[in-house]
Amino acid sequence: MTEGGTTARRLTVLAGPTAVGKGTVSADIRQRYPEVWLSVSATTRARRPGEVDGVHYHFVTPERFDEMVAGGELLEWAVVHGVNRYGTPRAAVEEALRQGRPALLEIDLQGARQVKETMPEAFFVFLAPPSWDELVRRLVGRGTEGEEERERRLSTARVELAAEPEFDKTIVNDDVNRATDELVQCMGLIPHPLADRSV
Ligand code: 5GP
Repeated sequence: MTEGGTTARRLTVLAGPTAVGKGTVSADIRQRYPEVWLSVSATTRARRPGEVDGVHYHFVTPERFDEMVAGGELLEWAVVHGVNRYGTPRAAVEEALRQGRPALLEIDLQGARQVKETMPEAFFVFLAPPSWDELVRRLVGRGTEGEEERERRLSTARVELAAEPEFDKTIVNDDVNRATDELVQCMGLIPHPLADRSV
C-alpha cells in the first residue's frame, strides 16, 4: 500500500440532509473521540451564540472567502441553502492525513460530491433521519432560523434525501451516541463500551 493510498482511506466524509443531526454527531465526536481529527470549515455565515471562531467554524468575510477560492485553498466549497458559503480548508486536511490521523469532514451533499471527484478513495457516509416526519420535527424544532429559512432548508432536505444511494454507507441517526459509535467503527476505531457513555 502506498503512502497516498493509506492516507486517503483515513478520510471519512459525513453528509446528510438538513437538521438530520450532523452537527450533533460532530459535537459528540469532538467530546468522546478526541483522537478523530475534525475539519473546521470556513463560512461566510454569521456566528451563532455559543459558537467559537476557529473551533466550530472559521468565520470569514465574503472577500476572504473569495480569496480562499481563488487561491485554491479549499478542498471543496458550496453555497448552502442558497445563502452562505461553506468550504473545507485544504491544507489542514492534508496535514491531518499526513500525520496519519483519522479525519472527518462534516459537509453538505454538494461538498461531498466534490470530494468524491477529487478523492474517490475517501469513505462516504450518509447520515439519515429515522423518518421524514422526524426530520421535519427536528428542522422546525431547532428554532434557530426564521420561517423563510426553514422552508428553504426543508426543500433542500427533500433533494438531499434522494442522494442516499450515492454513499458507501448509511447510518440512521436514531440515537446520537449510537450513530457516533457506528461512525467511528466505520473509521476503524473501536467504539467506547456502553458503560462509558457520558453524553
Ligand atoms: P450550519 O450553518 O447549520 O452550521 O450548517 C449548514 C450546512 O452547511 C450543514 O449541512 C453543514 O453540513 C454544511 N457545511 C458545513 N461546513 C461545510 C463545508 O465546509 N462545506 C460544505 N460543502 N458544507 C458545509
